[in-house]
Amino acid sequence: MTALADAVAAVAAGQGAARAELEALVRIPSISADPNRREDVRASAEATADLLRAHGLESVRLAGVEGSQPYVIGEWMHAPADAPTVLLYAHHDVQPPGVVDNWESDPFEPAERAGRLYGRGSCDDKAGGVAHAHAVSAWLTTSGALPCNVRVLIEGEEEIGSPTLLAFLEAHRDELRSDVLVLADAGNWKVGVPGLTYSLRGLAAADIELRALDGPVHSGMAGGAVPDPVAGLARVLASLVDERGDVAVDGIWDDVRPPTEAERTPIAGLDDDPARFAREIGVRPGVELAGDPATTLHERLWFRPSLTVIGLDAHPIKGSSNQVIARAGARVSLRLVPDQDPERVLAQLRAHVERHVPWGLELRFRALEGAPAWQTDPTGPAFDAARRALRAGFGVDAVMMGVGGSIPFVGPFADAFGGIPALLLGPSDPHSRIHGENESLHLGDWHSLMTSEVHLLAELATQRTI
Ligand SMILES: [Zn+2]
Repeated sequence: MTALADAVAAVAAGQGAARAELEALVRIPSISADPNRREDVRASAEATADLLRAHGLESVRLAGVEGSQPYVIGEWMHAPADAPTVLLYAHHDVQPPGVVDNWESDPFEPAERAGRLYGRGSCDDKAGGVAHAHAVSAWLTTSGALPCNVRVLIEGEEEIGSPTLLAFLEAHRDELRSDVLVLADAGNWKVGVPGLTYSLRGLAAADIELRALDGPVHSGMAGGAVPDPVAGLARVLASLVDERGDVAVDGIWDDVRPPTEAERTPIAGLDDDPARFAREIGVRPGVELAGDPATTLHERLWFRPSLTVIGLDAHPIKGSSNQVIARAGARVSLRLVPDQDPERVLAQLRAHVERHVPWGLELRFRALEGAPAWQTDPTGPAFDAARRALRAGFGVDAVMMGVGGSIPFVGPFADAFGGIPALLLGPSDPHSRIHGENESLHLGDWHSLMTSEVHLLAELATQRTI
């Protein structure tokens, strides 16, 4: 057997261990957005570091800068001098569970159903970190060496928009220097068909609070004269989208360039059947898809901005009484496309909201995270290597795809090292419900991903100029 075949066999033999390691990580609720979970994020970083060490990575340690949640870094740098250095990225923090009652099983107690492993982080992105570890150890335990140099970086605050990333890159530039970036935080086109992601939308978010009163007042005594801040907020929020659900923030389309012919071309399997897309993602029967019907589905998902109200503060229904409450708030999140500047979008949003606040309600507008979109040209030797590796791992060709989500890390990191290629693959598929309730990982595709990574290290090693 060749060294490559031995490594592929080792990945297959390691599936049981990988599964157990992933389950142990899922049991740690490493929610970076929750200040009460800082200890859990740290515990998750430590467990991740132990995992990397156990799989043969060297100089493994927790790292960070002022105010950051712990990153985990490690490396194996003993390849021949002319071999490239590959940076393997994943993140160990997770999203909050959402509405726990909507989960069919405990979000932090992994459970298998029909070939999928359910649990928060089972897919996004603890599966990515474990996949990297197994691809590395598959080579080390069989050949005693990797075909190229490897650095590993497992971030602890991706799900809150990587707020300290630039400072972290600055402080650890030499330890992270690499020739190609491999991110296992994206996903597959569909179950059994790998994807290579070349476009990500950006992100901008803000809190909008409207206040009418010093404190709540009896609605029988004051209703009809005192304005209801909840109704006022509803008017503002309604003004942010048009009748089709497209973003209607004043001026926001000025910087959106029309998609190219290639971007507009329908993609078989997605646009051919919007009904299937709706079904797969769990849209209720009879609910219409949002967005301009003249655009294809993937255009709407990848190449057009969108707006979502991700949080709402008013009085909960439970325990409510006949009062006009003092204030109401909403957190609004926008997905951005190339050429949109997050700062400018937030300024446009603020100006729009200021113009639409009714009845002189007091407005508090707080801009939150922002990250630009990212797009790359998926050609060249690194992308060729990735296509060959994914074909070897999955048995079918990869689909070049966009993703409507954001990975703020990609652009700044690739730029920091002179525009190195970024290969975005990963464990998710359209059924994974990452960030939602009942997140899950397809275990068969996860194995194929690890196998692809084993091939990818060999493929990249043959590229002297990437
Ligand atoms: Zn992720």
